[in-house]
Amino acid sequence: MSLSNALSTTTAALNLPSRTIAYFSMEIALAPAVPTYSGGLGMLAGDTLRSAADTCRPMVAISLVHRRGYFRQCLDDVGQQTEADVPWSPEATLPSANEIITLTVQGRPLLVRAWRFDVVGVTGHIIPVFLLDTDIEGNDEWDRHLTDHLYGGDTYYRLCQETVLGLGGVALLHALGCKPHVYHMNEGHAALLSIGLLEEHLAGNSLRDAQEIDLEAVRRQCVFTTHTPVPAGHDQFGLDQMYQVLGHDRATALEHFGCLHNGLMNMTYIALRFSRYVNGVAMQHGKVSQLMFPNYKVHSITNGVHAATWVSPAFQELLDAEITNWRTDNQYFRSVYGIEPAQIAACHLKGKQHLFEVLAKRTGHHFNPSVLTLGFARRVATYKRASLLLEDATRLVAIAEKIGGLQILYAGKAHPADNAGKGLIRDVFAAAAHLNSSALKIHYLENYDWELGALLTQGVDVWVNTPRRPYEASGTSGMKAALNGVPSLSVLDGWWIEGCAENVTGWAIDDAETETAEATCLYDKLEKHIAPMYANPAAWARMQQHCIAINGSFFNTHRMLAQYFRNAYFPFTTTDNATSPSSPVNEPAVGALLNEPALA
Ligand SMILES: *Cc1c(COP(=O)(O)O)cnc(C)c1O
Repeated sequence: MSLSNALSTTTAALNLPSRTIAYFSMEIALAPAVPTYSGGLGMLAGDTLRSAADTCRPMVAISLVHRRGYFRQCLDDVGQQTEADVPWSPEATLPSANEIITLTVQGRPLLVRAWRFDVVGVTGHIIPVFLLDTDIEGNDEWDRHLTDHLYGGDTYYRLCQETVLGLGGVALLHALGCKPHVYHMNEGHAALLSIGLLEEHLAGNSLRDAQEIDLEAVRRQCVFTTHTPVPAGHDQFGLDQMYQVLGHDRATALEHFGCLHNGLMNMTYIALRFSRYVNGVAMQHGKVSQLMFPNYKVHSITNGVHAATWVSPAFQELLDAEITNWRTDNQYFRSVYGIEPAQIAACHLKGKQHLFEVLAKRTGHHFNPSVLTLGFARRVATYKRASLLLEDATRLVAIAEKIGGLQILYAGKAHPADNAGKGLIRDVFAAAAHLNSSALKIHYLENYDWELGALLTQGVDVWVNTPRRPYEASGTSGMKAALNGVPSLSVLDGWWIEGCAENVTGWAIDDAETETAEATCLYDKLEKHIAPMYANPAAWARMQQHCIAINGSFFNTHRMLAQYFRNAYFPFTTTDNATSPSSPVNEPAVGALLNEPALA
């Protein structure tokens, strides 16, 4: 998937008219050096397309170019976060799509072009990703910066971006001769593609004349994946902004078709209204989303990760030698039961040593590869509770001393506008400064990104996750860890409900009334189960093997994408999906839970 590959393929060779699935996502992690993603959502999108390339799927994808990226995180001595832009130049490496389309946004013309990033699969199949760009001469100066900052600016800027993504994406695909059967909205950001499709369907007639039957024609083409039960993850905009950005006809159509929610333009409700198939990203998340949106049928397809992207170099070498075709068919991961556990343990140790070498170079801190090492890296958000692990400092130090040492590695970015989140990072720094001793070593690493995520999930011994239930929709970093023989110690939320076999693939932090009780469970597991097993190399190696064989063979995007094809894109049966799926039963009072934190 090198950047230069892209230049060698002509658009004709891509056979765009044969691409039946169009995948829309506000962020897509395309390569470590391309800053077009912020975290889990973008990683999932990228992994999905990498699996689509490896398994020769007829897909095409749309996103924005994000010329100034998300941000690079800098942390000072006390953990105060500052941010820096990550500018990149698509024109330096990527071919242009050779089409410029014109939209009407904010009541004026907006020119949109695209850069093509080719995701190349293991057998050479290509998934073209079109990165929309408004930085064109002739556009209003402010509009030229619309595709600069991922999740930057205010709500007005965001609505303009989402308009470019949805309407621009549909228009560009049309201009390129694509005629997809299925439009997949990866999160609500892309929901305005439905208005683009409706306009195309009406073929020049005004949106004012659209009937329910026209909406039905659009719904037959749309699939929507919702990604979080956290309210802040569901974009909504005031009606004044809706009219200003979209113009009178489109805004009226959204009102007319009952797409508003609590008097606001809500991207999730637009997506729900216009989709024939809706799903959450783990079995439990589907159920939680069903409670949030009782008037729509919500299915579940559990997330995965792209195995070849996340498996360490040492494991890749072992798999290439022992298991043919694992890159195109991840079900073969089950057959690591035919590999000696000691070989698996040896591969993991290489990942751990490599992680510590990189950390020594980057930070000057030295970690000991024979000491039990926990990893906790994720976007900083209150519900993720980064400090649960540090709740009882005295007990943690006592455990570290008793078991012969403990190392804990943290990483994670807070959104630039999230001052509470930034405070959580400083809290971990303060705790580390206070607790670090000869037995316990805690370190917070700067700038959690693709590369650091890979190093950590390949190198630590146990992956820790402590979200407040039921806010972790899925989580995917624990899946990356599992593929590298790393068990999880986690709250039973998201994917871990499906992935946890106690003492086999990891450990559950049991539900409790208070955080203190949950922390106590965490410490008990660490002291009485995890440390003793770690002290027994044969037992630990066997566990590493279980993680890969049981969870690696399932929690991958090859399997996930196959489930999207079977259940969402081209369902086998007509009973549930073809004609009257997820029809709104009665519109009002839907999803009141969205505004209520106390879901459980
Ligand atoms: C995998 C990954 C994520 C998502 O992992 P979660 O378990 O959902 O936190 C976020 N950021 C980076 C850099 C990743 O590699």
